[in-house]
Amino acid sequence: ADELVSAVHRIMTHADGGRRLAVRANADTAEDAARARRFGAQGIGLCRTEHMFLGDRRQLVEDLILAETPAERQSALDALEPLQKADFIGLFEAMSGLPVTIRLIDPPLHEFLPDLVDLSVKVATGAGTDKDDRLLTAVKRLHEQNPMLGLRGVRLGLVIPGLFAMQVRAIAQAARQSVKARAEIMIPLVGAVQELESVREEALKILAEVGVHALIGTMIEVPRAALTAGQIAEAAQFFSFGTNDLTQMTWGFSRDDVEASFFGKYLDLGIFGVSPFESLDRDGVGRLMRIAVEEGRAARPDLKLGICGEHGGDPESVRFCHEIGLDYVSCSPFRVPVARLEAGRAALSRAGSDTR
Ligand code: PEP
Ligand code: MG
Repeated sequence: ADELVSAVHRIMTHADGGRRLAVRANADTAEDAARARRFGAQGIGLCRTEHMFLGDRRQLVEDLILAETPAERQSALDALEPLQKADFIGLFEAMSGLPVTIRLIDPPLHEFLPDLVDLSVKVATGAGTDKDDRLLTAVKRLHEQNPMLGLRGVRLGLVIPGLFAMQVRAIAQAARQSVKARAEIMIPLVGAVQELESVREEALKILAEVGVHALIGTMIEVPRAALTAGQIAEAAQFFSFGTNDLTQMTWGFSRDDVEASFFGKYLDLGIFGVSPFESLDRDGVGRLMRIAVEEGRAARPDLKLGICGEHGGDPESVRFCHEIGLDYVSCSPFRVPVARLEAGRAALSRAGSDTR
């Protein structure tokens, strides 16, 4: 594997020559970040912090869900903060000197809550504890018909006081303790500038208290965010296109279960050649991206622009990102070499056509 990595490295260094797009990686752990760096990633474009709340920490998340008073809620958050701080130190150290974009928690609730059916069975058969009883009540209360369109991302941050603040404090403290940390805080699922302003204001206060600097930006993954990019750019130092959700919401296709049922027919009809979740739909999603780039940059000329949906590692989509003038793409660590190669080729073919 090491030989492969170094061979890839040599080819890539060549492709990097004329490349204008930077290539970052999506990574949630220090191990992934280190691997991404070996593949040549120039930073982390997306750390999905919701993944840090699974496994052993589910217990603490349950305490948060069950909290009935502000004091109980705060104590659940206080228990999570040092764990988060350690997570972020790991990422900053692995990426020392390179930008690390940390996205505040965006858990579709159905992936996060204890399973309703399992819990119901447990309680109904008398196998549950008192805590399971209370959890069942909470899970029923939070149950949603369309979780991907529900209480996610910034919406969750706005309704659970202290949740985003806990994460921002952990990021700030981790940045202060790490050598050459370059923190970028990203707000998910924004559709209106007011959502962003509210979170940004609180985050700026915390950063000032801790005495560190971090960029604050947003995902562009809700069509309305793309359409109001000029307003949103007033409160964002960077945009990162979340083309997974943007594709889902632009087409109205469920990310989770649409493909098996009718995509074959769509391919037959020539509506698309490959799934729009794999290769960027230039006419629809791409058009929204162009609008957001143009209006975002008009409002804030130094706005930094990237993409962190799965498309960031798809060659055809990387070319599109180059064409519309993004600054970076971010993809899974293993796709970093392909993205570097493609970004280099896009720049070269551009240079060729410009001189014709
Ligand atoms: C996206 O929507 O494209 C994105 C990167 O966020 P997630 O996949 O975590 O929803
Ligand atoms: Mg998303």
